[in-house]
Amino acid sequence: MAYRVLQSENLIGEENSVFKWLWSIKAPPKALIFLWRVINGGIPTVDNLLKRNITLSDQQSLCVLCKSDRESASHLFCSCPVVHKVWKICLGWINCPSPIPQQVGQFLNFVPAPLTRSSQIDAWRSLWLATIRTVWLHRNKVIFQGAPFNQDQVTKDILCTSWQWLDSFTNHFKVPFSLWITNPGLGVMMQ
Ligand SMILES: [Zn+2]
Repeated sequence: MAYRVLQSENLIGEENSVFKWLWSIKAPPKALIFLWRVINGGIPTVDNLLKRNITLSDQQSLCVLCKSDRESASHLFCSCPVVHKVWKICLGWINCPSPIPQQVGQFLNFVPAPLTRSSQIDAWRSLWLATIRTVWLHRNKVIFQGAPFNQDQVTKDILCTSWQWLDSFTNHFKVPFSLWITNPGLGVMMQ
């Protein structure tokens, strides 16, 4: 399965590299497995459901957040205009004006320019995965509970989740929660 991804996305070189890279992210196994499924087309986005011959109406085929394009992992996590605003906030924390990758595969190699130390990049990757995971959970709430996609709540959840992961899985992470929640950019740059 990973071979197919490498062929189609031309990512990091070889399967072992992707696997090693993924498991180096400071996050719980459940989140890493989720990311593995995202990379390998294993989450039930519309495009993946259609590949499994599941019939959907035109309305059901649209991204539930922007309702303007067919849902795929790359749409939902990269190019969706609703989620794009969330990324702008995340990148704004670290003063990164870089354009956001438009494909999930490109995101794997994306390191915001202001980050130079490996510990800073580690913190960013936890934040990055927390964003993808949080967007997915909120997308599910919209679909299954009819809840609105609340950008402020999504942002808070990203910060809570990423702090918990970094605090649990990084020995040198000493940023107080109160600082992380108010100035996450400083928290990242302190690494
Ligand atoms: Zn969308």
